[in-house]
Parts: sequence; structure tokens; C-alpha cells
Amino acid sequence: MSSRRVDPLVQSHADLFGHVPPQPALVPAAPKAARRLTFSEGGRQLDVVFERSARARRIVIRVDPMAKTVVVVAPVLEPMATIERYVRSKIAWALAALDGLATSRAEDAIDIEHAGETLTIAYEPSARARRVALRVDPRTGHVKLIVPPRMSKEQALAFARQNAAWIAVRLKRRQEPVPFSDGAMIPLFGVPHRIRHRPDARGTVWIEGGEIHVAGGVEHVSRRVGDWLTKQLRDHLMPLVREKAARVDRSVAHVTLRDTATQWGSCAKSGVLSFSLRLVFAPPEVVDYVVAHEIAHLVHHNHGARFWALAEKLTSGDMMAGKAWLRRHGPSLMRYG
Ligand SMILES: [Zn+2]
Repeated sequence: MSSRRVDPLVQSHADLFGHVPPQPALVPAAPKAARRLTFSEGGRQLDVVFERSARARRIVIRVDPMAKTVVVVAPVLEPMATIERYVRSKIAWALAALDGLATSRAEDAIDIEHAGETLTIAYEPSARARRVALRVDPRTGHVKLIVPPRMSKEQALAFARQNAAWIAVRLKRRQEPVPFSDGAMIPLFGVPHRIRHRPDARGTVWIEGGEIHVAGGVEHVSRRVGDWLTKQLRDHLMPLVREKAARVDRSVAHVTLRDTATQWGSCAKSGVLSFSLRLVFAPPEVVDYVVAHEIAHLVHHNHGARFWALAEKLTSGDMMAGKAWLRRHGPSLMRYG
């Protein structure tokens, strides 16, 4: 998700005064690889978006009311035959659910006109929200308007209308997903690399001739690439974290990597740093800035002038260029995997 905020890093810290949001298990989840599967039943066709997830414990099928699509999420190792059997048993249910959506429009959907286009936004009152926010999911293109308690619907809609141009830009910037599969081109620290599946080769994942080679069965390619990228990021981040922490004479308790969509990094007062797995796609100078930003938070738990001065000092390159890069290109890093 990208949020209507000036600094994508800011919101990660908004929660740190008072409470740290609950942390999921400290295991880096492999980025999901979504693809489309088609089933037919009684002359009708059902398209499903299929993903494997390291977090899934069993096969789950659900209907996404905003996208009007059926989503199937399966554990990484679940055999394809089992998944297909499961989906087949649910085809009639899914088709009926989709038919229901086609006739009854979601009550909480609102339309905003912008430059001759209609933007559909999900209106989401939230008891936990502190202020109104717009979120665009770069994967699905869904737009949500998060509304805090005590804000009237009129005020919230006015906010959405004022930011219609911002929403339109985010939606245009969205690009097609790039799953980790043979032939796909993905950036590794900003440098494009093609993925080559080598079913007959020994080993797991390695770089050869500027390409990412993956051995083993086709069903393992996505997970192996995801695991390998996680390791590349950790190997790249840890020396930076240690070096910058030493410069401010602070210690880092732990570094977690998570597939977060809304934040590039976060820093808890306990000294636990968290970074987005998607930084593995960003250029090294951008990663350097994100690390500098979080290390500066070990000293200043806010975004005051002294914080920014320290973050700038800890950034090896140009901090403003790093911030600008994330604002401009950050959403496109969500398309991989
Ligand atoms: Zn920050």
C-alpha cells in the first residue's frame, strides 16, 4: 500500500509513541508469486488469482469484493493437484458469490470523478485510525479511504476529492505483476537480472553471467528465488546496520525483514529494526538511506530537525535523492514476486 503521506518512512514511526504494532513472527516471508488459473464448470469459466504463501497453513479461497475476483492462497509446498481439487469443489460457490457482487454494489464503495475518469474507493471507518488516510494497493489497484472516529463522511469525502489527482497518479504508476519465474526480469539492488530456471542443474540459486539461475522443479522456483533474495538483502544490510550503529554508539537488538507494503523500515525503542524485503530491488544508495534513517531513530525517536540532520550525516550518498527515489519508484517495487 502506498499512503497519502509526504515521507513513506514517516508513518512507520507514527505508532511508536505509545505502542509498537504487534509484530508477526520474526521469520521473513517469501514474497508471494501470484498467477492466474482458469477453471470451467457447466459452460462457465472461473478465473482465480493464485498465490502461494509461506504464511498459509492451509488452502484458502475467498472472493475479493472490490476487485470482483476469486483469490486462492495455498501453502508453499501444497501439491498442485490438491489445490486444483480443492478449487474445483468450490467453483459453484465462487461463481454464485461473484454473481451476487455483480448485482449488488458494495455499500461502502464511493465514486469520485477525476479528469473524466471514475475512481472507485472503499470507504473504511476505523476505530484505530488517528487521521484520515488514502491507501492505494499497488498489487491490486484497490483504493481505500481510512476514516478515523469522529470524522464525518462529508469531511472524509472532501479529503478524498482533494487527493483525486494523487490517487490517479498512483493507479497509473501501477504496473503488471512480475512473478519469480523463468524468463522474468527483476532488479537486484537496482540492476536488472533475468531469472533462468535450470531444472537439470545441481544446486539451488546462483548468479551466472548476470542472470539468476534456479535449479530444481518448476514448483520450487518462486520460493527459492524469494528465499535467496531475502538472504541477499540480509547479507547486504547487516554490515550497513553495524557500521552506522557504531557511528552513533548504539546497539541494534535484532533486525527483522518483512514483506511490508506500507513501510520501508521501522525502529522500535527496544532497538529492534525492521526492513522491507522489497528493498532488495532498490539501488544500494536508496538502501543506504533507509538504513541511515532507521539508525538515526535509535538516537531520535521522532522526525525533528536533529533527527534529519543525523540521518543525513549517516547517509553515504544524497539523502534527498534517496527519499525522492522511494517516493517516485517505491510503489513499483511491489510488483515483483
Ligand atoms: Zn522515520
